[in-house]
Amino acid sequence: MTVLTGSRSGARVERLPLARYTTLGVGGEAEVWFVENHAQLAEAMEQPYRVLGGGSNLVIADEGVPERVIRLAGPLAERDLEPDAALSTPDEVVTGWVGGGVPLPGLIRQLQRLGLSGLEGTVGIPAQVGGAVWMNAGTRYGEMFDGLHTIEIATPQGVRQVTPADLHWGYRDSGIPRGHVVTRVRLKLRRAAPDEVLARMDFADHARRGQPKMKTPGCAFKNPGGVSAGKLIDEAGLKGTRVGNALIAPEHANFIVNLGGATAADVHALLDVIRARVTVPMELEYELWPDRGPA
Ligand SMILES: Cc1cc2nc3c(=O)[nH]c(=O)nc-3n(C[C@H](O)[C@H](O)[C@H](O)COP(=O)(O)OP(=O)(O)OC[C@H]3O[C@@H](n4cnc5c(N)ncnc54)[C@H](O)[C@@H]3O)c2cc1C
Repeated sequence: MTVLTGSRSGARVERLPLARYTTLGVGGEAEVWFVENHAQLAEAMEQPYRVLGGGSNLVIADEGVPERVIRLAGPLAERDLEPDAALSTPDEVVTGWVGGGVPLPGLIRQLQRLGLSGLEGTVGIPAQVGGAVWMNAGTRYGEMFDGLHTIEIATPQGVRQVTPADLHWGYRDSGIPRGHVVTRVRLKLRRAAPDEVLARMDFADHARRGQPKMKTPGCAFKNPGGVSAGKLIDEAGLKGTRVGNALIAPEHANFIVNLGGATAADVHALLDVIRARVTVPMELEYELWPDRGPA
C-alpha cells in the first residue's frame, strides 16, 4: 500500500488494488481518493476520474485503471435517519441526509427496524446508496426512486440538489450523467409496522434463493427481448464452464463467480465463450473498467 501525498484539501489518497473494493474480487491498482466533503471531491475531480460505489456491478482489468478512483468516505458515508420535522407528516417521513457511500444492505435493515417503508424491494442488492441511486437499482418489488426526496449531485462545475421530478429517470436509469457524483440523498418513506416491512423484505429476498453466494458482480447479461439470459446460457450447455478460477455458476448460468484468485482475464475469457456459444446477441450487464469496445 502506498500513501500518496499532494492533496491540498486533505483527502486521503492511496494506490490500492481495486479487487478489495469489488464484489467479484478482481481488479488491479489505481489511485484511490477517499473524499469526505465537497472540497475534497472538487479537488479529486480536477483530473480524469471514475466513481466507485460498492463495486457490485464492475469488472475491473487486472492492470487497474489510469484515472483517479473516487470513493465516498467519512460524513459522505454516514446517515441521519431522523425525520425532518418541517417536511414529515404523521404518515410520511423525510429523513436527514444519507451519504452516497452508505452500504445499501445495512440501510435497508435499519429502515425496517425503524418501521420505515419504501425501499425494502431493493433488499439483497450489495451496492452503496450512491451507486444504487445512479443506476436506479431495483427488483420487481421496488427500486431506489420509490424512496427518494432529494438527491445531491456533485459535478466538476459545482454541487446541486434536485428532486426525482427534475430527472428523466426510468428503468435502471436515474438520468444522472456518468461522472456526476451522487453525494447524499434524503429519503421519503412511509411509516409502517416493522413486521410488515420485514415480510415484504422476506418476499423480495425469496426470489434470490437460486443465486450463488460466492464472489460475483451479479448478472452478466441483460435479458435479450424479455428472454432469460440465464436460460440461453444454460441451453448452450455452459453451466459449470470454468476458465482459470472463474466459473459459470452451476446454480444460475447468468452469474460468473470467482472461485478464489480469479483474474479479470479469466472473466473476459468466460464472457467470450458465452458470446461464441449463445447465438442471440446479449448486452453486458456489468460495467467494464477500462471501457472496452464491443467484442
Ligand atoms: C449478488 C448481486 C446481486 C445483485 N442484484 C441486483 C438487483 O437485484 N437489482 C439491481 O438493479 N442490481 C443488482 N446487482 C447489481 C448492482 O448491485 C447494482 O447495479 C448497483 O446499483 C451497483 O451499485 P454500486 O454502488 O455497487 O456501484 P459500482 O458497481 O461501484 O459502480 C457502478 C456504476 O455506478 C457508478 N457509481 C457508483 N457510485 C456512484 C455515486 N456515488 N455517484 C454516481 N455514480 C456512482 C460507478 O461510477 C459505475 O458507473 C447485483 C449485484 C450483485 C453482486
